[in-house]
Amino acid sequence: MKLLLSFPSHLHGMPHTAEVILETGAKINIDRANVNAVCGELIIDVPDEKVEEVARRFEARGVVVKRLLSPISWDEERCIHCGACISVCPKGVFSFDENWRIRVEASKCVRCDVCVKACPLNAIELA
Ligand code: SF4
Ligand code: SF4
Repeated sequence: MKLLLSFPSHLHGMPHTAEVILETGAKINIDRANVNAVCGELIIDVPDEKVEEVARRFEARGVVVKRLLSPISWDEERCIHCGACISVCPKGVFSFDENWRIRVEASKCVRCDVCVKACPLNAIELA
């Protein structure tokens, strides 16, 4: 499962992610990092059996943790299956099925927001 971690400014400069990896032994993959002078945001992918332990360790350090059960929401009723989202998504979340209808594998999403801007029908939102 993916977790969205928000680091407040007072936690900057401390190796929280490295410490959590060492403490839990979890094989964490960093999908996306957005860090600036006042805050930091990471999306990490954690093996399901370690998710709650990892989340608790970050929360104990003051990190705000959001569990991303589904990183995006897709409104099938609005979708016209134009395929614009397929060409822009860097993670292959969207594809056509055998009937040329959009198929969505939301678990691959890293919330880059590109498809949200590309969809002409506003059928995709970050969850
Ligand atoms: S870009 Fe929007 S309308 Fe087009 S296939 Fe993707 S979700 Fe559907
Ligand atoms: S936000 Fe959209 S474009 Fe970005 S990874 Fe997720 S599904 Fe793909």
